[in-house]
Amino acid sequence: MDFNFDTKTVHFQKKKSGQPATKATPIYQTSAFTFEDIEDLENFYKGKNDYLYTRVGNPNTDDLGEGVAQLEGAPKGLSTSSGISAIMAGILSAVKSGDHIVACDDLYGGTYTLLSEELPDFGIEVSFVDFTDKQAIRNTVKPNTKLLYTESVTNPLLRVEDIDSIVELAKEMDLYTMVDNTFATPYLVQPYLQGVDLIVHSATKYIGGHSDVTAGVLAGKENLVAKAKAKVINLGSNLGPFDGWLACRGLKTLSVRMERHVKNAALLAASLRETEGIKKVYYPEFVSEKGNGAIVTIELEEQVPVENFVKSLDWVKFVATLAGVDTSVSYPIATSHRSIPEETRQRLGINKQLLRVSVGIEDSKDIVEAFKNAVKKSLS
Ligand SMILES: *Cc1c(COP(=O)(O)O)cnc(C)c1O
Repeated sequence: MDFNFDTKTVHFQKKKSGQPATKATPIYQTSAFTFEDIEDLENFYKGKNDYLYTRVGNPNTDDLGEGVAQLEGAPKGLSTSSGISAIMAGILSAVKSGDHIVACDDLYGGTYTLLSEELPDFGIEVSFVDFTDKQAIRNTVKPNTKLLYTESVTNPLLRVEDIDSIVELAKEMDLYTMVDNTFATPYLVQPYLQGVDLIVHSATKYIGGHSDVTAGVLAGKENLVAKAKAKVINLGSNLGPFDGWLACRGLKTLSVRMERHVKNAALLAASLRETEGIKKVYYPEFVSEKGNGAIVTIELEEQVPVENFVKSLDWVKFVATLAGVDTSVSYPIATSHRSIPEETRQRLGINKQLLRVSVGIEDSKDIVEAFKNAVKKSLS
């Protein structure tokens, strides 16, 4: 299909022929598929039949992996039970016991925990370095290093990764690259097209977009995604059909949601920069020509007690997630960044006055007012 991005978001699923040719893709809520006879079963192994058993493959979960791969411009994709299991599958496709990974030290907390606490038990060693310092990356690479791991836009301080230079470094040192593109989404950034080998998403966030599903996607080079698919099957980290269906439904509106999310976030960031009681506003620049993302991180002045501010948020939800259609706020030091060492948090500027705003698709005037009111109320 040679559609443009916005068309691909809606038409990533194959048009089914024959009857019943449903307009919407049905939910294949089944653990297994049936065969006419032994020959028909054998046809599965010959690649002539697509489906055998849902852990191995299911139309709803395959659609999600393939849909995101299309939007990323990657040849192959797969879906998994969560963003974290997609990261694990991707890592295991590129490294094995005895290998070493160099990862950015400014990662999503769950990823940091997976890399620092679980991977060593698999015999995989990980070093965390400041990815703004290319020489530090170079110095950390060892003979057994296989992979560079980072995020296209980091969380919660929204540093925009210099993907071109990471790719250049990796090519020079013969390493694989893997990028978590959850915050930017392929609407804004397409790291595969910049030469990254593996792209990972927590589809729980903008891909699903409605805070009603936990899912992950891995997309990238054909051979690596094929290896990762074997890991998903053999380790049992597949996604359920209904969750795949929900995430696909979300994906269809990615472009229209992102357009509004991004517009609202830019307006909120600009307004909070002028708001008394807000010490700092983190909102990136130059993420893409379509805009700079939908997360705005704020640091409150000391005279605005964070406890009061959170209580004053009115209709804005206080949560441990992001990227839904409704505006929400989260508290990184208590949630996503709880496991990041205090020393790293301090260096990055992740402190107790820091809140991450996931800007929704409501009317921007209501969003701005909610935040201005919350500052005003918590001051008094
Ligand atoms: C949420 C998140 C993850 C983990 O995804 P789950 O779906 O919760 O497993 C990974 N990376 C980033 C950037 C995230 O925001």
